[in-house]
Amino acid sequence: MDFHAEVIVLSQRDFREADALVTLFAREQGKQRAVARGLKKPSSSLRPCLQPFCHSRLHVRRGRELGLVTQGRALNFFPDLREDIEATAMAAYLMELVEKGLEEADPHPRLFDDLLQVLQHLECRAAAAPLLLRWFELRLAAETGYRPHLQECADCGTGRPGKHFSVSQGGLLCDRCAGAAAGTLSLDGESCALLLALGGARPDTVLRLRASARAQALLEEVLGRHLEYHLDRRFVFRQLLRSLRAPGAGSGRRPAAD
Ligand SMILES: [Zn+2]
Repeated sequence: MDFHAEVIVLSQRDFREADALVTLFAREQGKQRAVARGLKKPSSSLRPCLQPFCHSRLHVRRGRELGLVTQGRALNFFPDLREDIEATAMAAYLMELVEKGLEEADPHPRLFDDLLQVLQHLECRAAAAPLLLRWFELRLAAETGYRPHLQECADCGTGRPGKHFSVSQGGLLCDRCAGAAAGTLSLDGESCALLLALGGARPDTVLRLRASARAQALLEEVLGRHLEYHLDRRFVFRQLLRSLRAPGAGSGRRPAAD
């Protein structure tokens, strides 16, 4: 049976001679893998709509194991985002989160809409929004059943959460449980407040949040480790984003072509 799908392209890999294997996040069908025949040929009409993080509408023929993309149209190629190195790395990290975080054929239409919104914000504002990544990490955690405990202690379930985050317990601990726990990550008041604010935010309100570099770095560490632990995956673009921000690495828009 064939299906039409609104998708965000998560990745594209070489597959047989001129073909490619694409992993798609389809709004209604969830994560799907499909073959695109002849995609590596310059003449392929599918090339624009199957680039990573492109938002596209596709026609897919179901196969026994893999689908086959037969037609496609790009809805948004996010050209400005692709001009910015850091924004491109952020988008690649988002694709990695979804590809590694979701099971195949398990639909998450709200998460799809959220991902699309984050990409649209990255397209407009480029690299100015690392908090959008933190917000999406929280959304992915919630959709996969690992929403961190922030309102009550992640261990005893009753104590008022303090500033210690336990990755293995999956959230903030009260002071009594934190005293007995090993390997907790210490937050400060600002990063705790930011974590709570992100938990109840929408993408447009995330962009209005202000946070120090220290608070942002703390949340990046806590949420990245939370997802890696519970999803049991490693995210290589987390490391790349960090190295892009290292002193001397440089960032920002590529020089315009002549
Ligand atoms: Zn407790």
